Amino acid sequence: MPSQADFQEISISKTFSNLGLSAELLRAVSEQGYTVPTPIQAQAIPVVLARRDLLGAAQTGTGKTAGFTLPLLQLLASKGSASVSPARHPVRALILTPTRELAAQVRESARAYGKHLPLRSTVIFGGVNFNPQAAELRRGVDILVATPGRLLDHVQQKTLDLSHVEILILDEADRMLDMGFIPDIRRILALLPRERQNLLFSATFPEEIRKLASSFMRDPVTVEVARRNTPAELVAQVSHPVDHGRKRELLAHLVKSNDWSQVLVFTRTKHGANRLAQQLEREGIESDAIHGNKSQPARTRTLKRFKENELRVLVATDIAARGLDIEFLPHVVNFDLPHVAEDYVHRIGRTGRAGASGEAVSLVSAEDRPLMAAIERLMGREVESRVVPGFEPDHSVHRLAPKPQSQRPHSSRPAPRHPQRAQPGRSPAPSRRRDGTKQAPALFSARRGDAPR
Ligand code: AMP
Repeated sequence: MPSQADFQEISISKTFSNLGLSAELLRAVSEQGYTVPTPIQAQAIPVVLARRDLLGAAQTGTGKTAGFTLPLLQLLASKGSASVSPARHPVRALILTPTRELAAQVRESARAYGKHLPLRSTVIFGGVNFNPQAAELRRGVDILVATPGRLLDHVQQKTLDLSHVEILILDEADRMLDMGFIPDIRRILALLPRERQNLLFSATFPEEIRKLASSFMRDPVTVEVARRNTPAELVAQVSHPVDHGRKRELLAHLVKSNDWSQVLVFTRTKHGANRLAQQLEREGIESDAIHGNKSQPARTRTLKRFKENELRVLVATDIAARGLDIEFLPHVVNFDLPHVAEDYVHRIGRTGRAGASGEAVSLVSAEDRPLMAAIERLMGREVESRVVPGFEPDHSVHRLAPKPQSQRPHSSRPAPRHPQRAQPGRSPAPSRRRDGTKQAPALFSARRGDAPR
């Protein structure tokens, strides 16, 4: 949970009680221990309550979930379907997320913030049995949180009717793009009533997201917050040059010699994640892997063991790790460097989420040098490189590898992974306001800046 200190910057002018939220919601908020709204909450809540469409430029960790869930609950409760018979609870709010984990977390938030309101919510995603979800939908829900694929399965099986949706929320739209969900999103949009409120949250705004947003949103209000926990500020970063074949040995050495207890390790492939977890286990380091090939119950179980400190190391792929809400995560290790530099920022952002300082360690083989250089360009700074005694790389390429050419941040993608996404389409660098938020960028303007966000 972010520390209250992070949010002090706006506390002078904003408290939860002057955002227009009902007593039931204020009670739930204070039971969560929140006293000060985060910048995205302070800005988004009044906009949503005013029934405007909203474009939120905010990443996970900013408090965006409460930013849309709280006003959403209030809007639904104020029109109230609670007195209607259960069978007539149609889905009135639809929240789409890219991953199952994020869907489950958003649903948990809806439950926690809505605990004093008579509204029902549920979550549906793939990888688990279809029928219990269908049964729950039949009983009636006001708020449905879903991943796109399973949602469309339910529509096709006629176990879900979307004709009463009043509010649509697309969460982490850029991740949906990365994961190839945009066609599914368009199909879902076609199933919704035309008259509705739309909210879209995304950490970045590449061209496809801007196009998608402008195709269905009506005169949206743009809200942007500064990336909290910017890696440069909160996360200590270091890279250890090492020969490729000795990465596992070095990782085991670091975990043991530093007595690390909760380490999130990123690998590029599911297979690599499994293999590494097994190898670490054999060395006496309790480890498991989490990735898309694992069943949902297995992923949930593994995450629980990690959170409860039964596992020292959780090995994950980028997509599986996205949306994991792990508090106080002290160490992130990039066993493989990501091919997309922005993923590095997402990965290491996991350590700073608690507002506590974290440490991000990258194991950099000779082959990884160009990727590291792209990451450094994106962040506009170099990551300190430190050889671990006993693991000196043999390879002279380490010394010869080119340094980033300039400290000025620019395009970071070594290679496009999406055919239409060769450029990291980002909004121009917003200027900072006095309240710590940032000036909204012209998300739909033709001009594209290249500053990282
Ligand atoms: P999110 O960006 O929605 O994933 O939220 C990140 C974390 O911030 C979650 O653990 C929330 O419980 C926590 N959080 C949200 N709003 C607040 C707040 N106003 N004060 C303190 N923590 C918050």
